[in-house]
Amino acid sequence: MINSDFRSHFPFFKNEANWVYLDSAATTLKPQVLIDETMAFYQSAGSVHRSQYDLAQTEAYEMARDLVVKRFNVESRNAVIWTSGTTHAINLVANGLSDEIKAGDDIIVSVAEHHANFIPWQQLAERKKANLIVLPVDENYYIDINRLSESLSSKTKIVAFNLVSNVTGVRQPVEKLIPIIREKSSAKILLDMAQAVNSEQIDIQQLDADFYAFSAHKMYGPTGVGVLTGKLQSLATIRPLFFGGKMLTDISEQKLILAELPYRLEAGTPNIAGIISFGKVLAWLEQWDLTILNNSLYQLAGKCQNRLQQYANIQILKSNVITPTISFNFSNHHHADIATILTEQKIALRTGEHCAKPYLRYLEKTGTLRISLAHYNTGEDITRFFNALDMTLQLLED
Ligand code: PMP
Repeated sequence: MINSDFRSHFPFFKNEANWVYLDSAATTLKPQVLIDETMAFYQSAGSVHRSQYDLAQTEAYEMARDLVVKRFNVESRNAVIWTSGTTHAINLVANGLSDEIKAGDDIIVSVAEHHANFIPWQQLAERKKANLIVLPVDENYYIDINRLSESLSSKTKIVAFNLVSNVTGVRQPVEKLIPIIREKSSAKILLDMAQAVNSEQIDIQQLDADFYAFSAHKMYGPTGVGVLTGKLQSLATIRPLFFGGKMLTDISEQKLILAELPYRLEAGTPNIAGIISFGKVLAWLEQWDLTILNNSLYQLAGKCQNRLQQYANIQILKSNVITPTISFNFSNHHHADIATILTEQKIALRTGEHCAKPYLRYLEKTGTLRISLAHYNTGEDITRFFNALDMTLQLLED
């Protein structure tokens, strides 16, 4: 019931009633509150932190930061840095720590990374003549703990991996991995939370990584807004990626004095409309009981997975824990053929390499089909999906 209530806030379902949206891992749908706030911003005037008259905008903008603090239990509002998305946040860290990386140092990632959490580290390693160690995953798609443990040493400078994979939906047991990294190295740890932020309540201080990156558009917010957060002490070691307005306390012809965090990492006019409206979405989300919403989401995902498992010739890329993103293949049909026929039946899902080519190659796949649920999905969506899938398989098998 709560899903139907929640769903009623998303105009997509009225505007595109023929479609079944099962692609929330790519980007979630947008609630009315986001649309209203974005319109309101563009009908008003002013920037933030710049003029006397823009006080209301600046207040709303900074309030959004406070709501991120509250949602993720961030240690300080100064540790919330606005970015344009997860990709920007990870690049900010990779670039910002580059002075600390020397030839022969180790950077560790997993093979299960999205390109956004793979390429910045690969390129940094190449530039610095450091070693990129790529950890394999086991048969449950979990990072191989023994290989992680063996790879760690005083040479390890950075360990970066995802909390939840966008390819498989599998959640890494970071509560086990992070203490191992802490025990065996003094590496900085970055968690790519892009796929985790919408389906669990994350307490970042409890997780104990140094850096966390996520995108607002994966949790009912706008595109073009993301967050880099983490430990204030670790964020303070990052060299800015961009230089420009509002990131300094003083400048002379020869010398720059950077502002304190978060502003030193936020040069230039930010995505004000996006950030303010993301704040409104976070405030709106506070009205909902996320535990109930999440329980119902996982229940629906469980039903979906059980039903999928009954198909002949299916391989589901899963661990033993249910998650709202389910990736699968049929051994007797190409994933693109299935996706094409499903799309004709107005099922929105994702197929292909999921911006994770090294992972797909490791899994020896050219692509997978991926359905991903969010709190607005209902049993009826799932019924429509399975009807379409039955029809698709029938067509392909005739
Ligand atoms: N990491 C993961 C795990 C993702 O799923 C995504 C988005 N698909 C990203 C990073 C990149 O996010 P963005 O494109 O919003 O920067």
